Amino acid sequence: MQGGVGPLPVATAPARLARGWYSFSEYVSERFGPGTKVYKVTLDAGLTCPNIDGTVGRGGCTYCSNRSFSPPVREPGRSLAEQVRDGIRFYRERYGAEKFIAYFQAHTNTHAPAARLRGVYDEALSAGDFLGLDIGTRPDSVPDDVLDLIEEYARRYEVWVEYGLQSAHDRTLAATNRGHGFAEFEDAVRRSRNRGFRICAHLIHGLPGETQGMMLESARAVAGMGLDGIKIHHAYVARGTALAADWRAGRYRPIEMSEYLEVLVATLEVLPEDVVIHRLVGEFPGAEVLAPDWGIGKGAFLARVERELARRGTRQGARAAALASIAS
Ligand code: SF4
Repeated sequence: MQGGVGPLPVATAPARLARGWYSFSEYVSERFGPGTKVYKVTLDAGLTCPNIDGTVGRGGCTYCSNRSFSPPVREPGRSLAEQVRDGIRFYRERYGAEKFIAYFQAHTNTHAPAARLRGVYDEALSAGDFLGLDIGTRPDSVPDDVLDLIEEYARRYEVWVEYGLQSAHDRTLAATNRGHGFAEFEDAVRRSRNRGFRICAHLIHGLPGETQGMMLESARAVAGMGLDGIKIHHAYVARGTALAADWRAGRYRPIEMSEYLEVLVATLEVLPEDVVIHRLVGEFPGAEVLAPDWGIGKGAFLARVERELARRGTRQGARAAALASIAS
């Protein structure tokens, strides 16, 4: 796992990397003022996914369970205005939140004609006092007219577009029935650049058949693409998925915490230090998530990441510059 380049001492890291990685909350503080907290209100626009409705494929990705996406408010049949109202109330009452981003997380939130998408985004944004929009989608579902539309919103709002990639290996993407390859991701990123919105990629470490080396190759592949943000998950087994059937049959072994920690540290090291880390870990066991059970909660895991980075004297970006100079 380790390359031949020694890490930089943590003492040389900018303040934004105090924990060892450039977190979304640090980014928000820089962008909107020190101490500002911005909460993402998870919304379900009622759209489906081209990998479920037959446009690209049927059955979806083998690990996909939109129910495991930890929303506090989503129920079928509720209007966007109701979801916005309840979501904002939830975060205000629980966390004293004041600033919000409308987050379209479930399914593929660009999978509709641009005119319908405009209606969806407008309905949500007009129902609450939002400073931004966050759109989760697939790289094969962003025609240019939809990107033009999102670019319009980026003139008035903080806008992020999140592309699910998960792995840079076509073999893994095929094995997990993603319905697209790495080339579609490269194309989507290329067409999304210089449009005023921020580009975030999702990676999943621990997918079936992947070695730690393959996971790190995926990290290296996206590290050099000039992305603004990344979400890193461990692969988890959600109830009712094809992956759950494989896990029950002994055909899939979820990633161990020590393995994930190892590859996560290596991933952070190769990512440029200005890439915002939106997430560092996937979902933990609960009603919808069956495995892996690492015996600790999310907060304790994140504390462990921080300790591990400090113990090794490394941080996000510690190997990024070295890799760039080797490549040039
Ligand atoms: S692209 Fe997303 S919503 Fe569609 S099947 Fe895969 S994980 Fe599920």
